[in-house]
Amino acid sequence: MKSLVYHRVLLKLSGESLATTSGTPSACNIDVGMLRFLAQEIKQVHALGVEIAVVVGGGNIFRGETMAGNGADRITGDSIGMLATVINALAMQDFIKDSGIDARVMSAISIGGVCEDYIRAKAVKALSEKCIVVLAAGTGSPLFTTDTAASLRASEVGAALVLKATRVNGVYDKDPARHSDAKLYQQLSYDRMIIDRLGIMDSTAVVMCRDNGIPIRVFNIFSSGAFKAAVAGESIGTLIS
Ligand code: UDP
Repeated sequence: MKSLVYHRVLLKLSGESLATTSGTPSACNIDVGMLRFLAQEIKQVHALGVEIAVVVGGGNIFRGETMAGNGADRITGDSIGMLATVINALAMQDFIKDSGIDARVMSAISIGGVCEDYIRAKAVKALSEKCIVVLAAGTGSPLFTTDTAASLRASEVGAALVLKATRVNGVYDKDPARHSDAKLYQQLSYDRMIIDRLGIMDSTAVVMCRDNGIPIRVFNIFSSGAFKAAVAGESIGTLIS
């Protein structure tokens, strides 16, 4: 049997990656087809024996900053945003379970009766038992993002790699949706990513990975098999290290 490149990884799924890209969005803009696809991508990596923590975002449902300046409080908005991530996490959990793998949602905010609280030791134990741990409610504090939660949790549970799933192929020097000559970086340093403000991930998240020595691979989750290829150490997307 081939030895694993990464024993334990953390996959960051934005809320957008759970949302529909076409047609009429379902309630909360969660796309059942996307959930099924993502569960299969996760299953492929699980089959390699890799332990997987997943941090889900909430941007398909709510972002706290939309409250700021609109007569409401940003901090309240962030609480709503964190609750949105719990909705996504519960949906993701069920589709992973439906694919035949054990999964548990652990939330940074206590929501008794709905899901477990995030406790590091419990998460590590579940991961070592090959359960997919879906981490919800970000860091549990306002004014952060789920990208930062991904870096924080990766550091806490000892993940060897953060995989930042996006709709594009990696980090570009400019927005590839608006510039046909945008250049894809294969590799970047943490500092270059921060200094050049290559906005695919917030700088707090990048700094935390840098300071804890965790590489980040930014890749296109919509390309079937890409998650597995990234975990196998293939050079897809952009590696920030
Ligand atoms: N959020 C927060 N603290 C956190 C993580 C998230 O307050 O630690 C809130 C914030 O309002 C954010 C929303 O939850 O806008 C959804 O998270 P995020 O924008 O990171 O989701 P994504 O862009 O990954 O879908």
